[in-house]
Amino acid sequence: MVAMPNGFPVVVVGAGQAGLAVSYELTAREVEHVVLERARVGQSWLGLWDSFCLVTPNWTMRLPGAAYSGDDPEGFVPRDEIVRYLRGYASSFGAPVREGVGVDSLEPGPGGGFLLRTSAGELRAESVVVCTGAYQRPHRPAIAAGFPRDVLVIDAQDYRNPAALPSGKVLVVGSGQTGCQLSEELHEAGREVFLACGRAPWLPRRPGGRDIVTWLRETTFFDTPLSDLPSPAARLGANLLVTGQRGGHDLHYRTLQATGVQLLGRLAGVEGHRASFAADLADSVAFGDARYADIRKLLTKQLPIKGIMAPELPDSPPFHADPPLELDLNGFGVVIFTSGFRPDYTNWVRFPAFDAMGFPLTDNGASRVVSGLYFCGVHFLRKRKSSVLFGVGEDAAIVAQSIAHHHRTAPPSARTRSSGHQGSA
Ligand SMILES: Cc1cc2nc3c(=O)[nH]c(=O)nc-3n(C[C@H](O)[C@H](O)[C@H](O)COP(=O)(O)OP(=O)(O)OC[C@H]3O[C@@H](n4cnc5c(N)ncnc54)[C@H](O)[C@@H]3O)c2cc1C
Repeated sequence: MVAMPNGFPVVVVGAGQAGLAVSYELTAREVEHVVLERARVGQSWLGLWDSFCLVTPNWTMRLPGAAYSGDDPEGFVPRDEIVRYLRGYASSFGAPVREGVGVDSLEPGPGGGFLLRTSAGELRAESVVVCTGAYQRPHRPAIAAGFPRDVLVIDAQDYRNPAALPSGKVLVVGSGQTGCQLSEELHEAGREVFLACGRAPWLPRRPGGRDIVTWLRETTFFDTPLSDLPSPAARLGANLLVTGQRGGHDLHYRTLQATGVQLLGRLAGVEGHRASFAADLADSVAFGDARYADIRKLLTKQLPIKGIMAPELPDSPPFHADPPLELDLNGFGVVIFTSGFRPDYTNWVRFPAFDAMGFPLTDNGASRVVSGLYFCGVHFLRKRKSSVLFGVGEDAAIVAQSIAHHHRTAPPSARTRSSGHQGSA
């Protein structure tokens, strides 16, 4: 462990893409800081399953000062290459990262500023930027506790590959990007797969021979702010269903059904060895079809304004299914929950700086409640793209600019006063 002085003007917590982008922007503005990472740079990507490939195309690896320079911008690099990109990025500007230092709590400092209790001791800071991930704590509905003991129940983050699972049928709960990708992989490995479906937008991967994310970049889709969503809770909704596997291909309800994955409604209950499912599969597919129609409308409306001809996107084909409403769990080896994530800040950030769902209350990444506290990399922090590789840089620059301004304009003693907190947990 590298010895650390006990204070920094700015501490960034987390060395994923958000923490590194903030560090790059602070470095560019000559703001002294340190980045504390409890594991290693790019740890969250390493935690994904073995065959994981980027879902957005390679060109989206464009953190500030490090645009994608490879020769396959619409390809999808595997997991370890994403990690290599992040580690190369960190060394390209000498990011002051301390790996292996976890922050256990962030509290008001005695006399102002912040106190961080870390695995390497206590640390003071005048400003703190929390970059601990867009997708933090796997969410399992309470029903999950009801599965019988002879069936292994795991979250997606514990899944590595089909061979590492116990034999038997597989129930995947949650049909977002991850649930669909794991269902496909397990089915191809010869498993009998049942997918309990929720609601998710789907789109073809390469309409008109171009990646869907590349098309959408030309519209306002990724710039959508939280306030444009139907409700704040909508930010917990699933992302677009597509995959980067095998060079990228369509992957959604209909493609999975066609290959032989048994689609089901939402998991509704578990009693002994019987699991029950809602009769809502058709509704979930209709929801996805409606989002497909919305996005098609957006493309056909906005692309021509830029002189781009929109790709042809046919109507959703009909969907027929008569899924069972109950399953006998005998013969099942594993249940995998892929039912989304929830924020996890309130466990360790001891300030009342969060909304009822646990998301930070911010303006442009600056806490509305605690002066000197910032966040970056949060899903919909400023826009839909705030948590993805090609969007986080914009937010990082804004956050770093605000910190630089704060540190330039306030003398050290006033800095401590001005980061006085308006309340504590
Ligand atoms: C399955 C999946 C697929 C995705 N695919 C794509 C994609 O194709 N394209 C795309 O652009 N985005 C994708 N994303 C979204 C997003 O890009 C990633 O979630 C990305 O990892 C977010 O970066 P981040 O820096 O905000 O958080 P993270 O990468 O999660 O980094 C946070 C870091 O903080 C550290 N940390 C956490 N708590 C502490 C603490 N208390 N003290 C010290 N360190 C701490 C963690 O170890 C971690 O390294 C995907 C997300 C998931 C879950």
